[in-house]
Amino acid sequence: MLRMTKGDEFILMDRGGERYESVIEAIDGSAVLVKLQRPLQGPALPDVEITLCQALLKSGPMDYLIEKTSELGVSHIKPFTAERTVVKIVGDGSSNKLRRWQEIAVSAAKQSDRAAPAEISQPVSFKDIMGQLQDADCLKVILWEREESRDLKEVLRASAPAPRFAGMVGPEGGFSINEVALAREAGFIPVSLGKRILRAETAAITLTALVQYEWGDLSIRSNH
Ligand code: SAH
Repeated sequence: MLRMTKGDEFILMDRGGERYESVIEAIDGSAVLVKLQRPLQGPALPDVEITLCQALLKSGPMDYLIEKTSELGVSHIKPFTAERTVVKIVGDGSSNKLRRWQEIAVSAAKQSDRAAPAEISQPVSFKDIMGQLQDADCLKVILWEREESRDLKEVLRASAPAPRFAGMVGPEGGFSINEVALAREAGFIPVSLGKRILRAETAAITLTALVQYEWGDLSIRSNH
C-alpha cells in the first residue's frame, strides 16, 4: 500500500541514476501522477571504475553479490558462463534474470546514495568476455585460488591508482587451468586472496571492497 498522499514530496531516481525532487500531484486508484520539480545534482562519480566479470552463480549467491558489490560502488557487472558453471539460463529466463539484477542494483544504489546504479550486462560466454576486455586499458586481474606467487595486495600497491580496474571471479567450482591460461593471454594477472578458499560471492565482494580501499572511495578523501 502506498503510504504517501497527494502533495507529498520525495526523491525519484530513474534507471540511469538521475534524481529529481518530485511531488505527488494526484492519486487515482493504482495510478499515481508525479511531477518532477527539479533535477538534483548526483553524488560525485567514482574515483575508480570497477568492472566485475563474474561467472554465473546460483540465483541466491548471484543476487547477493549484485546487491553487495553495488553498495560498494562497482560500476559494471559482466556475468559470463565458465567451464564449470552449473546454472544454465536460456531464452526468456535470461531477460527476467537481467531485469531482476538491474532492480537489485537500482535499490542498492539508492541505499548507498550512488550517482548511478551498476550497469549489468547480459550473460555472455567466457570467450566473449575475453574478447570484450582484451584491449581494455586498465589493470586486469583474475582471482585464482591456486596462484602461488602473486596476491591482490601487492598487485594493487605496485601500480599507481588507475581510473579503471577489471576483476574476474570464477564459478562455485573455480576456473579451469585452461581458462586461467586464456585469461593470462588476454592480459589478466592471476592473483590470490590468500590461503582461505572463499565462496565466489565472498571473493567478489572482498575484491570490490579492497579495490575501493586501495584506489577508490572507501575513505573520506578522494584519491584523485
Ligand atoms: N576451485 C575451488 C573453489 C572455487 S572458489 C573449489 O572448488 O574448491 C570460487 C571463486 O572464488 C574462484 O574461482 C576464485 O575466482 C575466487 N576465490 C576464492 N578464494 C580465493 C582465493 N583465496 N584467492 C583467489 N581467488 C579466490
